[in-house]
Amino acid sequence: MFGRRLRHLRRARGLTLADLGSRVGRAPSALSMLENGRREPRLSQLKALAEALGVPSEELLRRDPPSRRAQLEIAIEEGQRDPVYRALGLPHLKVTAKVPNDVLEHLSALYAELRRQRSKPTATPEEARAANAKLRLMMRERDNYFASIEQAAATALGTAGYSGGALSQGLLLSVVSHHGFTVRYVQDLPRSVRSLTDLRSRRIYVKQEPVGMHSARAVLLQALGHFLLGHSEPRDFADFLHQRVEANYFAAAVLVPEQAAVPFLTAARDSRDLSVEDLRDVFSVSYEMAAHRFTNLATHHLEVPCHFVKNDESGVIYKAYENDGLMFPSDPSGAIEGQRMCRLWSGRQVFGAEDRFSPLYQYSDTSAGTYFCVAHVDPGRERGFAVTLGVTYEDSRWFRGRESTVRRRSACPDGECCQRPPAELAARWEGMAWPSARAHSHVLSALPAGSFPGVDDTDVYEFLERHENG
Ligand SMILES: [Zn+2]
Repeated sequence: MFGRRLRHLRRARGLTLADLGSRVGRAPSALSMLENGRREPRLSQLKALAEALGVPSEELLRRDPPSRRAQLEIAIEEGQRDPVYRALGLPHLKVTAKVPNDVLEHLSALYAELRRQRSKPTATPEEARAANAKLRLMMRERDNYFASIEQAAATALGTAGYSGGALSQGLLLSVVSHHGFTVRYVQDLPRSVRSLTDLRSRRIYVKQEPVGMHSARAVLLQALGHFLLGHSEPRDFADFLHQRVEANYFAAAVLVPEQAAVPFLTAARDSRDLSVEDLRDVFSVSYEMAAHRFTNLATHHLEVPCHFVKNDESGVIYKAYENDGLMFPSDPSGAIEGQRMCRLWSGRQVFGAEDRFSPLYQYSDTSAGTYFCVAHVDPGRERGFAVTLGVTYEDSRWFRGRESTVRRRSACPDGECCQRPPAELAARWEGMAWPSARAHSHVLSALPAGSFPGVDDTDVYEFLERHENG
């Protein structure tokens, strides 16, 4: 920066290197070295130069660029050192005095945008699938039990005065306020976010939900979880996914505290009456959260390996986890999300059941063994999703519904099972149908760009402006 300021002040006074050199008794080449940053000035030189230019020495030592021009030159030099730029394989651009300012303005804006585009934590569908597969492997290695998050949740509960049982609304709010956050329920939250935290005023905005909906509690705690777990802006898509899983885990661990849930589940196992419904009812959470929480605690505390899957009515898988050996359908990259699961699995059969909102207890024979599964359709908003919790045949003895006589045999991934239409139907219709597919691209494709994946920054900033003084 010293060299730039020196050059700027010299040129502003209409002096050549030789002119200034003669005033301070230095060769022009020596001054050129100073201006190019290849030499550091000695203190006596600094004083002489400042005097010759008619400025205080401090003026030459200031750290900020002396002019817009100098700022642009620095930006372009830095831009060209950036690996993202170097990957373009362009020759180095030497910025001489002849390059006009407006060209530099353009180039520096392009560099800045190039950097911004590359730093976004978005992913191609392949990267998203790989990130999902890697995350699932990590969860499986730990039996989906994260001791450090359990600890963070227990600490948050303890400092708010929790002593056992289900979490009241009052206690929930004191968990939040204990960390200096306040909650605002609003109607106009941007559609692309679940919650929004104003870091300046430490306010968490969540959507006002109709009475009886539990999701607002989970969303609030997910927001808090990001802070208590020390998350910062995600580096990439994998990091984003990882943070989301951790924040969800934190929310579930606060709403279904380990210290209360484990004795409850242990007693249920001992009386051979384990069920996700009871966990849901006792802790007032959604069925999905209860099933998910079950997977956190079942193997670690009850020695029951299990699997979890969430799918839509057409059988497309949205979330999946297993440590009980069940073979989910997967693509060659190992991705399970977006795959269509066997028609005979309980998560699909439940949609055809007489009462689809009652749990379906089913034994499924698969190529990996026999499993006892409980599938449940959440009668929630939007369209129907089924959540299935399953265990090996051997562990069915601990569960409610084990007397079920429903038993299906799935030969998937063998095409003869359900992936290919029955021969008679195929003979009649092959070549005579032209369906237009409904894309499940939201599962598979990269999320739209923004500082956070899938979030509309403009909406978010406008929202915060609106509410800043509210
Ligand atoms: Zn099948």
